[in-house]
Parts: sequence; structure tokens; C-alpha cells
Amino acid sequence: MTDYSMLINGKSVGAKTSIEVLNPATEAVIATVPEASPAQLDEAVAAARQALLGWSGQSLEERRALILKIADRLEENIGELAQLLSEEQGKPIDGFAGLGAMFELGGSLAWIRYTASLDLPVEVIQDNDEARIEVHRKPVGVVGSITPWNYPLLITCWHIIPGLLAGCTVVAKPSEYTPLTVLKAMHLISDLLPPGVLNIVTGKGGLGAAISSHPDIDKIVFTGSTRTGKRIMEAAADNLKRLTLELGGNDAAIVLPDTNVAEAAGKIFATAMINNGQTCAALKRLYVHEDIYDEMCEALAGIAGSVKTGPASESPDFGPIQNKMQYDRVCELAESAKADGATFLTGGEPMPGPGYFFPVTIVKDIPESSRLVQEEPFGPILPVVSFSDVEDALEKANAVSVGLGGSVWSSDVAAAQKLASRLECGTAWVNNHAMIQPDAPFGGVKQSGVGVEFGRYGLVEYTNIQTLQISKS
Ligand code: NAD
Repeated sequence: MTDYSMLINGKSVGAKTSIEVLNPATEAVIATVPEASPAQLDEAVAAARQALLGWSGQSLEERRALILKIADRLEENIGELAQLLSEEQGKPIDGFAGLGAMFELGGSLAWIRYTASLDLPVEVIQDNDEARIEVHRKPVGVVGSITPWNYPLLITCWHIIPGLLAGCTVVAKPSEYTPLTVLKAMHLISDLLPPGVLNIVTGKGGLGAAISSHPDIDKIVFTGSTRTGKRIMEAAADNLKRLTLELGGNDAAIVLPDTNVAEAAGKIFATAMINNGQTCAALKRLYVHEDIYDEMCEALAGIAGSVKTGPASESPDFGPIQNKMQYDRVCELAESAKADGATFLTGGEPMPGPGYFFPVTIVKDIPESSRLVQEEPFGPILPVVSFSDVEDALEKANAVSVGLGGSVWSSDVAAAQKLASRLECGTAWVNNHAMIQPDAPFGGVKQSGVGVEFGRYGLVEYTNIQTLQISKS
């Protein structure tokens, strides 16, 4: 078992108390991480504040060069990092459709490298005899990053890299369930950055709350549940922190009657079960027209019946659910769907332990009011609901308090696009779902979040505007 350290002001730091980290496939403790004290958080924030002037004073070109070196360093260690990620998170190294730990590592590199290519040009609003007016983008200051356990390294990169490029300094807190890969990766790159520019502290929700209310942090970027997002917004109010909140979703997909089921079923399955369903923008409610309902249910059940859930040693398609809390929630939602009279085409019962294994589960004939339809399961279970009237399906898709993603499936792309534009969500897909990329903005509407990440739209969220007005008359 290894004891990991935090990274504060360029140094490896332990703490008086520690947190145990489990392998969700065995439930065995595999490592401990320090539990940061309030004084250690203060030290990390002070180091970030101290480093801010120097880091923001470097040119964007200089910062870009260092960020590209970060990607190279992580790539040199990709195998070791993927192994550790698989152990602590539970995702297989390769997994179904190659969407396992190596995919997360590859995605992290792609996001770092693309984000590093961005610029923050000065915009000229007016330049005439009266005045020249320019819009400058200044770093927002010290950024606090708080991340979840589903894609620990990828989401940390989404948070810290645009911040660093914009000239901000960072104090980041990984999830207490999956802190190891982030700690390992950030120690590997720490010598590339001046001390204090990037600090990693570890702890539970209390540490996240302390980051959110810290008077010397200027912005919080958070990915996690809507419930926690609301607490962060409250805690951040005192010094009016800037916020980017990427929260939960309950993405609906509407499958129109002219859809080619044989072609669509594979994609629908993959985008519902990506990362064992533990993906914020996974397809979570499937509304299928009654004409093709049975055919679609059969096709999905066929795929579900052919995949394997198990420990990494068996090279499975899917691993365990990441933690006991989430595993219990998936079990509970399955039970409530049974009580509601739903039909289980596959799965539905937890697998024998040890480990938080739950098989891929396809559920049909489920009432709209069932908790499995109304609440985000965040696990390998998909409710499939039949509809006859497309307006009714759209109304149901939009009748939730969250709005992260949504999709429409059809062989008539124009009709599907028209319907997709009426979905109340931050990203609407046609004939796909859950596809994200580093240059396309991603964020939620309604209670799925505030602001966006990725590309130029995401980068400017790490800046404040300064309007410069030079009088000429
Ligand atoms: P969570 O909100 O329980 O925890 C996320 C992080 O917040 C952890 O680091 C945790 O320690 C910290 N935290 C807990 N209480 C806090 C508090 N009061 N103040 C500040 N920080 C606190 O979420 P989770 O269970 O780790 O993640 C699952 C949820 O995240 C799902 O709802 C999912 O949809 C959502 N999610 C959203 C996205 C997105 O991009 N929109 C991506 C991944 C996950």
C-alpha cells in the first residue's frame, strides 16, 4: 500500500490524518492520501496567490510551451497512469469500444494539447479620431477546482489547463474516492511549473466547502452533483466568486419511427453505457416510437447480453461501479423500477461480491413516473419508454429540472435537427449522444450548470474583461 502526498507550493506534503482509497473491484484499501487541514488549505491558497503575479506576467506563449511539456510528460507515463486509474476508478484499461482508462488518458492529452493552442486576442471595438477602445482578457486570479470520481484525471485537466493558459494559478481538490491518478500525474509534472502555480490538496466534502468559501480564491470550477453545486454557489457568494458549474443531467433521447434500428442500437448502447453509465452526458432516458419499440428493446438487450462485467484481470467490457454509495443508488433504483412493474430484459440484480459489480441492465415497459426515469441513475441501467406522439415525447424529455444533453435519432436529419433544437439542454445531438470534443463548448442549462467548458468559450471563463479606452480628442 502506498501513502500519497499533496502538492503545495511545489513540495510534497503529508497531513496528520489520512483517507483510505479503495479498489472498487475488491473493496480492499490500496492507498492512503492526506486529509488537508484548514491551515494547509490556507498555505496552498497563499502559495497560489504568491505565484499569481509571476505566472500571469509570463506571456501566453511561454505558458503554452510549458503546458505542452505537461502533455509530453504525462504521455511518457501513460501506461503507469492508466493502470493506477483502472485500479482506483474501476474502469478497465481498454473496455467496451475502447472507452476505458487508456481512453481517459488519451482524452486528457488531446484536451491539454488542443487547449494549449488557444489564444486570447485583444478585440478592438472602436478605433477612430475620438478614441480607441480595446477589450483585454485578464486572468481571473486564483482558481479552486473541485472534481468528481467518474473521470478523475480528464476532468482535472479540463479545469486546470485553461486556467493555467489564461494566467491563473490553481488549487485543485480531486474526489476523495479517486485522488491517486491526479496526485501521481501532478507530482510527475510539478517541476515543469513555478512553485505555487498548481497545488493539489486532498480531502472530503468539508475541504471542498472550505475551498468554495475561501476569501482568497477568485473562481470555482466544479464538476459534480447538482446538490453540491448549489452548496458551492451559496458558499461562494461572500466574495462573489466567479463560477463554472458542470452538474448532473438526465439526458433524454427520442428515437423517431424511421430510425434504422440495426444501425442505431449499437451507438445508443455505447453512449448510454459509456464508463459503465457513470458519465454526466450519457444517454439516460430512451424514448422510442411504438412502431420500432420492441425491435429496439430486443437489439439493446442483445448487445447487453453479449458484454461482460467483471474485474480488470478478466479484461472485461465494464468494471465495477466506482463506490458503494453509487452502487447502492443503482440497486435502489432497480428495485423501485421492479416495484413499478417494469420488465427487466437483462440484469437487474447486483453481482456476487466482493466489488461493486452491477450488470448492464435494460428495462422496458416502465412508467414515466418511475424514479429510474425521473432521476439520474449514473450507472449501467437504461429505461426504455414507448411513445406514440412525438410532441408528447418532447414534453417528457423537457419535463425535468436538469438540461445537460439530449438527442434525436432519425433517418431524416432535417426533421431530427428541428426537433433537437427544441430540447432544453446545453448540447443536442442528432444520431449520436455524449460526444464531446475539446473545441466545442459544453455545459448545462437549467439545473445542470452555470457556464461552459472547452474551446475559446471555456477559456474566457478563466478571465475577466478589462475594457481599455484611449481618448484621442
Ligand atoms: P459530488 O457532488 O458528491 O462530489 C464532487 C466533488 O465535490 C467531490 O470532490 C466532493 O468531495 C466535493 N464536495 C462534496 N461536498 C461538497 C461541498 N459541500 N462543497 C464543495 N465540494 C464538495 O458528485 P460525485 O458523486 O462525485 O459525482 C457524480 C455527479 O456528478 C453526478 O450527478 C454527475 O452527473 C455529475 N457530473 C457532472 C459532469 C458534468 O460535466 N456536468 C461530469 C461528471 C459528473
